[in-house]
Amino acid sequence: MSLRIETLSKSFDGGASVLREVSLTVHDGEFLALLGPSGSGKTTLLNSIAGLLTPDSGRLLLDGEDITHIPAGQRRFGMVFQSYALFRHMNVAQNVEFGLRVLKGNARPSKAGRRARVAALLDLIEMSDLGDRYPAQLSGGQQQRVAMARALAIDPRLLLLDEPFSALDAQVRQSLRSSVRDLQRKVGVAAILVTHDQTEAFAIADRVAIMNDGVIEQIGSPDELRQNPGSPFVRRFLEAGA
Ligand code: ADP
Repeated sequence: MSLRIETLSKSFDGGASVLREVSLTVHDGEFLALLGPSGSGKTTLLNSIAGLLTPDSGRLLLDGEDITHIPAGQRRFGMVFQSYALFRHMNVAQNVEFGLRVLKGNARPSKAGRRARVAALLDLIEMSDLGDRYPAQLSGGQQQRVAMARALAIDPRLLLLDEPFSALDAQVRQSLRSSVRDLQRKVGVAAILVTHDQTEAFAIADRVAIMNDGVIEQIGSPDELRQNPGSPFVRRFLEAGA
């Protein structure tokens, strides 16, 4: 499943453009990070991909199909956003099962099917014995793994992650990074991560897109970016973050 973003532009309330003709392809199974300073447009781009924002112009093509005007709930994208925290009044299994509720019609599994799917997902995040715990009884890292399982429940066509580790302390963040990467590889879904943390982007992503003021300044593998920063901005940004 590949996503092609074509000349996407977005402004708010007639103000200056926050995204300026952004084009980008996310390849099948790839882990892509959007990295850049605060205010560079990362979240706006991710929300536009998610369908939570409508771009002013440009298109989104998923395997060639134009999804620009398909509502967010019908895109079958898995999302781990800070604003979509776990439901406090539901246990782990119920939180994961909730991910399946967005599926409609034939895509929605039977009760037994849902139970089996939840069990498989809890196994995947290595929390099989914690299904009846409530979020408040879990560590921050465990909560984030449950959020991943909830996002993966629908067998998403694309995984969208917005600063999923930022509330966690450094050590937990590091181990979670590799478990998110492992899960993404196992499932084989392409992922887009928004982060302002260079270490994180370089540790986790196949390719990193560096954003500045509504455009992608440069995109490449961590090695390519380190070895050949393509503009003074990228050079300065990488040096400052190292
Ligand atoms: P980043 O994720 O890189 O920090 P954002 O995409 O959140 O950047 O924001 C880019 C710019 O768009 C910022 O200047 C921000 O103030 C502006 N912006 C974001 N969302 C809105 C909104 N809903 N209304 C008005 N301005 C917004």
